[in-house]
Amino acid sequence: MPERTESDSRKLLRRLRDTLAIPGQGQDRLNRITHLIADSMGTEVCSIYLFRDPETLELCATEGLRPESVHQTRMKLGEGLVGRVARTGLPVNTANAPSEKGFRYMPETGEEIYSSFLGVPIQRVGEKLGVLVVQSRTARQFTEDEIYALEVVAMVLAEMTELGLFAGDVDGMRALHKQPVMIRGGTGQEGAAEGRVWLHEARVVVTNPVADDPLTEIERIRAAVGQLRVSVDDLLAAESLDKDQKQVLEAYRMFAHSRGWLRRMEDDIALGLSAEAAVEKEQSATRARLEQVPDAYLRERLHDLDDLSNRLLRILTGQGHDTGAEMPENPVLVARNIGPAELLEYGRKLKGVVLEEGSVGSHAAIVARALAIPLVIHADRIVTEALNGDPILVDGDQGIVHLRPEETVARAFRDKIAMQAAAQQRYSSLRGLPAQSKCGTVTSLMMNAGLMADLPSLDGSGAEGVGLFRTELQFLVRNKMPQRAELAALYARVMDAAKGKRVAFRTLDIGSDKVLPYMKPQDEPNPAMGWRAIRVGLDKPGVLRMQLQALIRAAKGRPLSVMFPFITEYGEFVTARDVVMAELDREAAMGHPVPETVEVGAMLETPSLAYAPKAFFDLTDFVSIGGNDLKQFFFAADRENERVRRRYDTLNVSFLRFLDHIIARCAASGTPLSFCGEDAGRPVEALAFAARGLRTLSMRPASIGPIKALLRRVDLAEANAVIDRAMAEGHETIRPALMDWLADQPE
Ligand code: PEP
Ligand code: MG
Repeated sequence: MPERTESDSRKLLRRLRDTLAIPGQGQDRLNRITHLIADSMGTEVCSIYLFRDPETLELCATEGLRPESVHQTRMKLGEGLVGRVARTGLPVNTANAPSEKGFRYMPETGEEIYSSFLGVPIQRVGEKLGVLVVQSRTARQFTEDEIYALEVVAMVLAEMTELGLFAGDVDGMRALHKQPVMIRGGTGQEGAAEGRVWLHEARVVVTNPVADDPLTEIERIRAAVGQLRVSVDDLLAAESLDKDQKQVLEAYRMFAHSRGWLRRMEDDIALGLSAEAAVEKEQSATRARLEQVPDAYLRERLHDLDDLSNRLLRILTGQGHDTGAEMPENPVLVARNIGPAELLEYGRKLKGVVLEEGSVGSHAAIVARALAIPLVIHADRIVTEALNGDPILVDGDQGIVHLRPEETVARAFRDKIAMQAAAQQRYSSLRGLPAQSKCGTVTSLMMNAGLMADLPSLDGSGAEGVGLFRTELQFLVRNKMPQRAELAALYARVMDAAKGKRVAFRTLDIGSDKVLPYMKPQDEPNPAMGWRAIRVGLDKPGVLRMQLQALIRAAKGRPLSVMFPFITEYGEFVTARDVVMAELDREAAMGHPVPETVEVGAMLETPSLAYAPKAFFDLTDFVSIGGNDLKQFFFAADRENERVRRRYDTLNVSFLRFLDHIIARCAASGTPLSFCGEDAGRPVEALAFAARGLRTLSMRPASIGPIKALLRRVDLAEANAVIDRAMAEGHETIRPALMDWLADQPE
């Protein structure tokens, strides 16, 4: 075979493009292409294998293999040499295919006479579409140039597949972005929604993979890379960068200035690709490498390069984030990840959110929860699969997404949504009634909040007040520290909206997973047990004092309720409470009205506080159990770690005994006690807590109706006896016993 030259490749690409310009059905086009490639590469065989489903490849066209094997020969991902190319996303080049490890003989193709094999992936930025293969009788290794040329052809095929040029009559061909896809992720926020995809960052569409004039394309890519370099340098020059942001941008700069990257793209262009297609080809190669790298740090860096490629594509195509597309009705936001401020900006107009990354405790999840928008996280490949406007169902309860669902699935889903709506209707009829159980005990149900957007739920849910107002959310959604006057106005609006109902403002709870974008992040080995919450407040009291002043001013003489997060020992509470008293004196001295009454409470989130001196329980005006944190420290199980976060049951008798102890200590000193972690909003847990004597539960607004309905239909004394019995019988958890009993209770 003659050495390939650049002009050979360009000629091939041009012939490819011309062939595709001829009107025809998909199968005809594929046949013509295989003929063309074999002819141009000087090989006896050229075959195109495409994915029939995500696990199966099918021979869709061939020049040289037996025609009857087309659409008959199939292999699993990873099976044989073709399967290996598809799985790894890397070429396989061998002079003696039958002796290659993993070779699978497929007699129907008649391929046994071909010794050399070169297979390259057909892929488009992370999306595997198939495999392109050439084979020849002569036993020889293909040259680097040949591999490269075939990769370039595969790249063009990928773009053309994306543009739908083969869709139509090709039997077995996976019509891209057309078929239903079900993705199993994780629950970020419960709830069900039906809507249409709205991509946070729209895909860049490359319509011109082949270019005639390499010189112009090289000029274009150089200019675009130049622009990219300037933009990264500008970002780096910003003053407000923290160490991590700087590090990421330094890596960006390194890649942006990398000669190798630009050179590879220029080589691609020399072979006939357009500048855009060259960027995508290198991006695909990076993605394929990304999947192979076990080292987390290196993977991150390759992610950086991926981001940078996207920026470069946007520069080249002029397609910004805002493509001018119109947001569909009932939009469901789909993104790799999203910041809390951006999500808040979309606000309640979103029906649902689906993220490829994200975590239960991420700020986006916190905002989605506050807005009561169903959220699915870890939805693998959703960004690649989804197109703007695609129908989508979000099942936040199961953590499942149905993209372009079949009508039967959509119908079943609509039934589920209707049932949930009917239940909400039922609950709203209980809105004005107390959560009074059959034994006469009344449990006070409050809601958790953190944004102004939450407050309309106060009326709607029937909550008696706000048991936990997470003030850090207002800090997290901004990009600079809020001013005192701004906060005072906001807190005043919260109190106005509460119309005299109690709002327990929790002072800033930052650190751990909640890192303010404008505060220097701490490099801590274990931030959940590090410098966080009240520890920061006491060591750097400036922000705490400013926040307390804002709260006092917002109250304008009305009652004020404040609580401190993460109090671990008595002394911390004394010091924090003293700050409140000092600020009250200061405000009074300045002639500002002071609140009519001030309650100062503590959140019990570390086991140690349950064993604090009696003086603590006497001094604090109330205690609120932060079950999310308390449980993670009690069971030594990270609340953010998917592997362990659900491992231990809240109704485990060890934890219940511990709660009993806290309830007893508060009872002994007459200290009001509430529970405000997520478990308060879960039916069986809430029932157990109420039965054990917790008289106030604070939860997300959507849980108030179901919990109230449940508590009203049971006798707490009976439930308590069931728990006592299960404990005495030595069970590890009382859940089965309580659920059995509950199943027998009349509706
Ligand atoms: C808790 O820890 O239970 C709690 C309510 O606080 P947060 O979830 O905000 O840490
Ligand atoms: Mg907490």
